[in-house]
Amino acid sequence: MRRLIYISIIYSLIITGCSNQPAKQTNTITMDSAKNSNPVFSPQDPAGKTDTGKVEISNEEWKKILPADVYTIAREKGTERAFTGKFWDHKEGGTYYCLACGNPLFNSNGKFESNCGWPSFFEPISKGSIIYAPDNTYGMKRTEVMCGKCKAHLGHVFEDGPPPTGLRYCINSVILDFSAGSGGEKAKDAEKKFDDK
Ligand SMILES: [Zn+2]
Repeated sequence: MRRLIYISIIYSLIITGCSNQPAKQTNTITMDSAKNSNPVFSPQDPAGKTDTGKVEISNEEWKKILPADVYTIAREKGTERAFTGKFWDHKEGGTYYCLACGNPLFNSNGKFESNCGWPSFFEPISKGSIIYAPDNTYGMKRTEVMCGKCKAHLGHVFEDGPPPTGLRYCINSVILDFSAGSGGEKAKDAEKKFDDK
């Protein structure tokens, strides 16, 4: 009998151990295929001509296109839990895009480590890449930032960032897509100035 119990414990450990792996893989596949099957997503060259075309589709359509977690942030103005996103301490040089539509939003040159648990930037990649709106929910006076092309909710901007802008764009990782490239040098400099503040 005792042996049987041991066997069943070991067996259940194996099952649990195995089930962790496929779950992770499924996640990655879901994410990539979600982007591939998103007809709206078209990454723009940040150095190229700015795409002024807006993406205006209903939330019903977005719901079909975006993975549930991205939809919650982008269309329902949700917030991911601090320190859980994949970009809050991401330091690689490159460009951050809107995951919903491919609009270039930030360069790693504008990113700094604020230790707030969300990816933080002191400037967007260009003036038109982001739009702003007052947000007075939860008894706070904040400024919401949205994608300039598809109006996806990105996060908020606060006035406690490092020079030269003094701004801190606090952005949800979930709505960002990253493409490695140049950048990062200026970010280190800004981070140092922020630490010295
Ligand atoms: Zn967008």
